[in-house]
Amino acid sequence: MLHEPRRPDRATRITTSLDAVLRGLTAEQTAYLQRPKNAGPLPTPDDAQSLAELQQISGVAARAIVELQQGNPLTDDDLPDYQRVALSGLVAEIRRLTEGHERRPGREARERLFAWLGGDGRTSEAAFRDLRDRLRARLQAQAAAAPVVQPAPQQAQPTNQDVLSGQLAGIIGHAAPAGDEAQVKAILVVGGQAYRGRNGGPVSAVTLQLINGLVEQLEDWTITGCAEVHALDAFVTARNYTDPNDVLKDFTGAPRVIKEPVIAAMDARGRPTRSWAKRLPCEHCRQWLATLHITPDTKGAVS
Ligand SMILES: [Zn+2]
Repeated sequence: MLHEPRRPDRATRITTSLDAVLRGLTAEQTAYLQRPKNAGPLPTPDDAQSLAELQQISGVAARAIVELQQGNPLTDDDLPDYQRVALSGLVAEIRRLTEGHERRPGREARERLFAWLGGDGRTSEAAFRDLRDRLRARLQAQAAAAPVVQPAPQQAQPTNQDVLSGQLAGIIGHAAPAGDEAQVKAILVVGGQAYRGRNGGPVSAVTLQLINGLVEQLEDWTITGCAEVHALDAFVTARNYTDPNDVLKDFTGAPRVIKEPVIAAMDARGRPTRSWAKRLPCEHCRQWLATLHITPDTKGAVS
């Protein structure tokens, strides 16, 4: 007989989903959260700085919305829909002010957003402030815990990271095909097994549906252009999944079926000859990788 896995308590679930939000953020979005509160009046930002701030706010909110859509709680109150709607309103307002026919210059967009947050957008303001405070608290807690390094237990079996590092050793810095065409490769390691992908070409319907459900598109993005997506697809098709929910469950369920998956991507750089260089995942891939608890190996990566 199977028995129900014990459901983690709400506080633990909140911490887990806040950490998932943080893992999906870009360095700029994380830096935005780490800005000291009440640090005195900021010098008046210019258009570019204003726009960057709005994009950071929107990006953090969008990442949180993805978690809420998965049913992962981010606050104590039992109205996740209310929070999701409030954050979606914020993202939509920023889009309205920065894209399309109603777009404003950066400073004016920022001023209008802040005016909106103090008026019609008050619920969005409260939801985002609560989210930002919680993410900041998690960043501080993580920083406080960081110096305590546990000695690694003796591993009889190579870890996924060991397998990935072994694969990368034979590729990074080695010759890549010449030419101007973008060449990107990714390697996903699950259960000690490497799954490889390249940019371009079709992916299975299961993978398309899965990724579409996990990514809040911040700008036009072609799912099949990312080698990471193709590496995941190699795994999905090798294991004969027919339902994206089964894939999601295996990566995120309790207990976790898939443990500590890792991924790395690399592209061909240089001129006239090219070699393989490790690269960071794009902001869209960061979202689904975080939700699926897949750790990108970004040590020594270029952006
Ligand atoms: Zn990507």
